[in-house]
Amino acid sequence: MSVKINVSEIFASNVFDDATMKQRLPKKIYAEFKNTLLEGKDLEPHVAEIIAHEMKEWAIEKGATHYTHWFQPLTNITAEKHDAFINPQKDGSILLSFSGKELIKGEPDGSSFPSGGIRATCEARGYTAWDCTSPAFIHEAPDSTPVLYIPTIFCSYTGEALDKKTPLLRSMEALSTQAMRIIKLFGDTTATKVVTSVGPEQEYFLVDKDTYDKRKDLIFTGRTLFGAPAPKGQELDDHYFGTIKERVLAYMTELNEELWKLGITAKTQHNEVAPAQHELAPIYDTTNIATDHNQLIMEIMKKVALRHNLVCLLHEKPFAGINGSGKHNNWSMSTDTGKNLLEPGDTPHSNKQFLLVLASILKAVDDYAPLLRMSAATPGNDHRLGANEAPPAIISVFLGDQLEDVLSQLCEKGEATRSLEGSQLETGVSTVPRFSKDATDRNRTSPFAFTGNKFEFRMVGSSASIADPNIVLNTIVAETLCQAADILEKADDFELALHDLIKDWVTDHIRIIFNGDGYSDAWVEEAARRGLPNIKNTVDATSVLADPEVIKLFDKHGVFSAVELAAREEVGYENYSKAINIEARTMIDMVKKEIIPAVMEYTTTVAKSVAAVKAVGADASVQEKVLKEITTELSKLDAAVVKLEAATDASVKIEDPKAQAIAYRDDVFAQFAEVREPADKLETLLDEKAWPFPTYAELLFNV
Ligand code: ADP
Ligand code: MG
Repeated sequence: MSVKINVSEIFASNVFDDATMKQRLPKKIYAEFKNTLLEGKDLEPHVAEIIAHEMKEWAIEKGATHYTHWFQPLTNITAEKHDAFINPQKDGSILLSFSGKELIKGEPDGSSFPSGGIRATCEARGYTAWDCTSPAFIHEAPDSTPVLYIPTIFCSYTGEALDKKTPLLRSMEALSTQAMRIIKLFGDTTATKVVTSVGPEQEYFLVDKDTYDKRKDLIFTGRTLFGAPAPKGQELDDHYFGTIKERVLAYMTELNEELWKLGITAKTQHNEVAPAQHELAPIYDTTNIATDHNQLIMEIMKKVALRHNLVCLLHEKPFAGINGSGKHNNWSMSTDTGKNLLEPGDTPHSNKQFLLVLASILKAVDDYAPLLRMSAATPGNDHRLGANEAPPAIISVFLGDQLEDVLSQLCEKGEATRSLEGSQLETGVSTVPRFSKDATDRNRTSPFAFTGNKFEFRMVGSSASIADPNIVLNTIVAETLCQAADILEKADDFELALHDLIKDWVTDHIRIIFNGDGYSDAWVEEAARRGLPNIKNTVDATSVLADPEVIKLFDKHGVFSAVELAAREEVGYENYSKAINIEARTMIDMVKKEIIPAVMEYTTTVAKSVAAVKAVGADASVQEKVLKEITTELSKLDAAVVKLEAATDASVKIEDPKAQAIAYRDDVFAQFAEVREPADKLETLLDEKAWPFPTYAELLFNV
């Protein structure tokens, strides 16, 4: 029986969105609220009071008993603390209430979140404040009452940001301020702000829960720390865009329904390259809302999976030897009147505003490449960037034939006079309708690719919040647009100054453009020749936050103070150390409590068999050979795990966060391969039934 969903009826039915507010709020209050949004003015208390009341009434009609301030601490996931609407009266009865104050401000304590030293636990005060640019919504779950969720920012008593949303909102404002200066120079008088939009494509794996439950590494770390390759991987390309299995489709159906109710435009679903890997993409939205929605997508993906006895893995590299998961961050900026500043038009060579914006983005990406790399750095993503599936850790920009041709005309001849056009697609089949192809092909290996009217930043990891990359993108582009505006606003001859600026910047930053194969070794060498940074791991990437230029940049645009930035650097190291520590402890545990005992038991069986076979005078050489191979690997494994344990015990004691992260990287993480190798070898030597946990074959091919 197929499932029927009335999409137009359920879409955004659980969102206290603009239409709902317009319908429920008194006209004057609605107008005042809209003004607050448009002009960024403070929200008047009486407006908040009435909105809170209506929000509560609406939520109660939907069955809600609680509300929560929902925020995004420095953990890549969201946080919530539920409060009931109940308000006891003197006569013993209960009133359900929700005040404007409760809507606007919360004090969740939350002192245990990472703060990078901004808050000592004794200074527990932290505040959440309503982010009215992202609508409140109702979260439902089976067997529980719905809860009203209010998107908020999270900051300390002294006003420092303790979350990812505050700097994201600040960076959006910074970009708007600078981009407005540019569009005014080109005579736009109607736009009042520039907003950035993002469409994040989310990759994930689905594994069977019963199988998952037998793997401590998946449970504790989200990835497999052991596992010999299955006989089959992704070499046949038979999973990518393949027919979706019914069990998976049933999952996707329920996931879509949940997302649509929350007004999330889940649009595209397909199988990805690796076995058991899939992707979901929503339609792009304002960065702030896209970020909230991406957090919800990740959370709901996991919850719905459990209802199907599946587990959704969002880790960047759950399995060795097959593709990991990322999140393509499609980014653009447009005016509030709907003009996309990244739209080249049919003749980009004559679109001066576009060329200026393009030159500014090239300069931003080249000047701040290490920072952009940092924004995609997580311990999980270290496995991906540089392996031959994700973009390399080297930042470069793909522009495609058409734009590259325009820019080379500019550099070589001083002027661009023509644009290549897309020709008709020749299929050789007369019954297929003819259509013209794009002026530019795609490049799947580029970390930062122009795709028609947007840039696609492909380094981001699947488990990460998209706030970090967008904070960085918005801020670095705000900076170069600011530099451009500083020059052009003062120019006596605007046309001449504009021409020179575009030409100079393109010439200066041409090294960042690369249209070739980003996965090849030749590119690594070529990039080194060009002087492009190749930052291979999270620890090195994090240290970029201490660069005086970076501190100056964020301070200038009001995105991070020096204190906030130092705190993020510290949290970056801490998160890295903790992640590697958990992986190390899990490895040690699995080796000592599962692998070694299983191997010992098996060797006893084989040894008995050797003795028995010999006792009857038969040839036991095969049994002896197997026994020897196994015991050789077993002693290698034992030696490696002893070293790993010592290194972990030493690293955990280091106090300086950076020194500790370096130790976890160089002494602990570096030891993982030495433990894994003999363990994986043993897996191939033992009887299938004797191995203590499910293999790759069972994990990847049984859904
Ligand atoms: P792909 O072929 O890479 O999957 P799509 O055209 O399907 O590309 O788009 C991928 C994502 O980019 C989607 O989330 C889509 O909504 C988003 N997107 C499309 N146009 C823009 C834009 N102008 N700005 C930001 N994101 C966009
Ligand atoms: Mg894409």
